[in-house]
Amino acid sequence: MNTLAGSMFDEDDLLPLSALQHMVFCERQAGLIHLEQTWADNAYTVEGDHLHRIVDGMSSDLRSDVLTRRGVTLKSFRLGVIGRADVVEFHSVDRVDSEGVCLPGRTGRWRPVPVEYKRGRPKAHRADEVQLCAQAMCLEEAFAVAVGTGVLFYGRTRRRSEVILSAELRALTERTAERLHTMMRSGRTPVCARTEQCDRCSLEPVCLPPSKSSKPSVRAYLDGVLSWSIKVEDQE
Ligand code: SF4
Repeated sequence: MNTLAGSMFDEDDLLPLSALQHMVFCERQAGLIHLEQTWADNAYTVEGDHLHRIVDGMSSDLRSDVLTRRGVTLKSFRLGVIGRADVVEFHSVDRVDSEGVCLPGRTGRWRPVPVEYKRGRPKAHRADEVQLCAQAMCLEEAFAVAVGTGVLFYGRTRRRSEVILSAELRALTERTAERLHTMMRSGRTPVCARTEQCDRCSLEPVCLPPSKSSKPSVRAYLDGVLSWSIKVEDQE
């Protein structure tokens, strides 16, 4: 057991890196998924998984001075997380650039850049940025090199978006990891408090108490299922 106050976690304390994005979106959602193993698969989450499998199935390659590694296992004993990056790019840099790392079987120095693939589009909350930042902090720990930027790729817009890994984003990522460990140690899922996030939450049907109104009609049920699918599309 440990905290983030400067010291390191043990291997047994590592939590899923992906839980950080759930914590940013809603701490109750993180508790439902990671403490209570509640998850709702539907067409959209399956499609998201499919995108990740396509990325994972692509072999590593070298193009235009960028070496691409897919499905890279990452861990940080500082944050206390373990997970996988969809892609880590290594960009060739000047041989005298101290920010680069040496890679086995390659000449010169290379700058690691995490790339995370998302099925949807950019969102108002910062869950994707925190997940990406945590991946970068894992790479920094593994290679002892500063990682200044990462990339988010959104399937809906088909665009790469560079993310500057600022001190403020790093602090948010550390605070999120600390809250995640505190919640997991407590074993308690935070109570439900409806916010505007709920309208975009994939777990709303299993999280919020049922309506006190009478049994819904078939039409209301079908409308609810359709609206739930749209919410998942917006969240992922
Ligand atoms: S429905 Fe609302 S309170 Fe429940 S997990 Fe989703 S965002 Fe959190």
